[in-house]
This record gives sequence, C-alpha cells and structure tokens, in this order.
Amino acid sequence: MGTLELDGVSKVFPDGDGEVVAVDDVDIEMRDGEFLVVVGPSGCGKSTTLRMVAGLETVTDGEIRLAGSVINDVKPQHRDIAMVFQSYALYPHMTVQENMAFGLEESTDLSDDEIETRVTDAAGTMGIGELLDRKPSDLSGGQQQRVALGRAIVRDPEVFLMDEPLSNLDAKLRSEMRTELQRLQAELDVTTMYVTHDQTEAMTMGDRIAILNAGELQQVATPLECYHEPANRFVAGFIGEPSMNFFEVERDADTLLGDAFDYPLSESTLGDIGDITDLTLGVRPEDISLADDPAGEHTFSTVVEVVEPMGDENTVYLRFEDAPEGETFIATVGGLQQISVGDEVHVEIPEETIHLFDGTTGDAVH
Ligand code: ATP
Repeated sequence: MGTLELDGVSKVFPDGDGEVVAVDDVDIEMRDGEFLVVVGPSGCGKSTTLRMVAGLETVTDGEIRLAGSVINDVKPQHRDIAMVFQSYALYPHMTVQENMAFGLEESTDLSDDEIETRVTDAAGTMGIGELLDRKPSDLSGGQQQRVALGRAIVRDPEVFLMDEPLSNLDAKLRSEMRTELQRLQAELDVTTMYVTHDQTEAMTMGDRIAILNAGELQQVATPLECYHEPANRFVAGFIGEPSMNFFEVERDADTLLGDAFDYPLSESTLGDIGDITDLTLGVRPEDISLADDPAGEHTFSTVVEVVEPMGDENTVYLRFEDAPEGETFIATVGGLQQISVGDEVHVEIPEETIHLFDGTTGDAVH
C-alpha cells in the first residue's frame, strides 16, 4: 500500500555561520493512490520536501513513512519511489529504450526479457513505442517528458514524485500533458506527490493541495476547500486568480471600519469574530458585482480606474469613492457590461462571500 506519511519533518541547511530552515515541522498524510500537489512561492521548501521523500536529501528531524515503515535511512534506490524531474534527467548517450531500462537493471533482479516487456508496456502507455531507438537529443521537449514519465512508470513504484515536470513545455503542450498525467495517475492509481508553483496545476490536478510558505505547511485540503475556506490570509492570497483583495479594518460594535468604507456585519458573522478588533477583510474579485440597488446595505460607490478586457469578462480596478487615487481593488465583471475608466459604479460585496482574518495572526476567523 502506497500510504506516505511525513511526521514532523524538518530540514535545516547550514548557511555560512548560521543555518536556514528550509522545511519546518511538516505533517502530511497521503492515502494510497492519492494525487497531492505541493505548492508555494519560490524558496518555500517544496523541492526540499520532495527530495527528502526521494532520499536525495537527509531528514534533519521527523519521520517519513512509506506503507507504515520509516524510510529515513533507506537508500534512494531501495525506496519504492520513482522521481520525475523538471529537467527530465535523461542520459544523453543512451537510447530511449536504454534510458527506460537502466533503473530496472540497476535496482532489480528482473531478467532481460522481463525488463524488455516492462519497457515496451510503459512505452505503449506513454505513446512512445516508435521512439525506443532514438537518443534524447533527437526528441522534442514533449517527447523527452514522456520518456521521463515512462522511465518512472516502468519501475512500477509505490510512489511517484514529480518536481515541476511540465514547466519546460510550452503552454499548449503543458495543458495537454496536464490532462494526460491526470489520466495516467488515475489509471495507474499510484500515490503521487507533485511539486509546482503553478496555481492552475494545483487547482486542476490534485485530489488535495498542500500549501507551503517559508518552510511551514499552511493548509492541506482539496482545491475547493483551499479556495472557499482558506486557513489563513496567506492561503487566501495564494489561491485564486486574480488574488483576493485585502482591507485592513477595525471592528467597532457591529461594523467594520475601513479607511474608505464601513461594512455592517450580521449577528452570525460577529459571533465568529468574538472579541477580535483588528481584522483583515478578504474579498474575492469574482464575488464583487455591479449593484442593482445603490442603497443596499453592502453596496458601495466606487470609481473605475482601470479596465482590462479579458474577453468574456473584464478585470476592473476600482477605488472606493472616499479612497485616495491609486488605492484600488480588483473586481471581475461580465465582459458584456459596459464599463469605462472614470465611471462611477455601485458595487455589491455580499456578506455571505466575505472572508475575515485575525489582523495579528492572519488566521481565518470567518
Ligand atoms: P523553487 O520553487 O524556487 O524551486 P522551492 O520551494 O522548491 O523553491 P527549495 O528549493 O526547497 O524551495 O528551497 C527551500 C529553502 O532552502 C530556500 O531558502 C533555499 O535557498 C534553501 N536551500 C535549498 N537547498 C539548499 C542547500 N543545498 N543548501 C542551503 N540552502 C538550501
């Protein structure tokens, strides 16, 4: 069973006279066959996490368990794990066939015939049967990527680890391979940990997403949970495009006071906030709409500063009427709406769509 568990896993690198905590006390439990996407900004510890699971980096603290057994000290080639790298890491002097067979020859005692059968099968799965005699230099980027995946599949491992495997492909191929990888993973049903900084990959490919920031795990949840119920302000800002708008506000009785607006709250929202007074109000651009009723409780008078037509929708930079010029927030509105720079428009921010974060800790409170 390919259950993979990270239990209090940390990695500390020496850094000059000091040290850098690349991964900080991370707990992740993956069920057998799960597709988990690890995302976060550059330098947050994604690759280091993956490399520790692969055995390419030692673990400073904590335990990594595969199918219940601790693998911290197991050599990479003896972990039942196959890794696919961004660079593909194919051996340039070997043919596709040899590249795919190499790992099996090194780490198993399969016969030549068995190896050939496995390579042929994996090549069939990846649609590269015609390319087996070619060298990597005679392949396109997409074909090389297929070979790299084929080389992982051929090992029939308990776990796949993938580090930005699609980032060297152009946009169209990337999107095709994304679909194909999902199909493949579902078909093979192999536990997969997939590192990317690409939000679209995270939102569309993963059964769950693990979001890291500065080495610390922020949330592990389904893509929709991360979007609708972000654990904190960081996750809220990281997931969603364009990003969530944030406003620093202060609660006064039953109203949030912003720099340029007041936002009244219902009893139930107030109940979630408790006695916190410094808060961050989060509003997704797609939850803001043009108001039918300018006098509505959560309707605000704004000025349009920038309009970016995106085809079926517009990205609009708005400013509250009382806010200084340039202090804008983003709304996405339907492309058929006629909106021009300088227009005064009333927008509605419905209370059921707002997010509230503790202004000090950043934790979600509503
Ligand atoms: P990216 O998306 O840019 O690849 P990442 O999220 O994969 O980033 P890591 O490569 O895991 O991040 O790096 C995490 C932190 O650890 C960074 O601060 C990095 O500089 C540091 N780091 C990584 N490898 C080493 C090393 N061998 N020695 C010292 N510091 C390292």
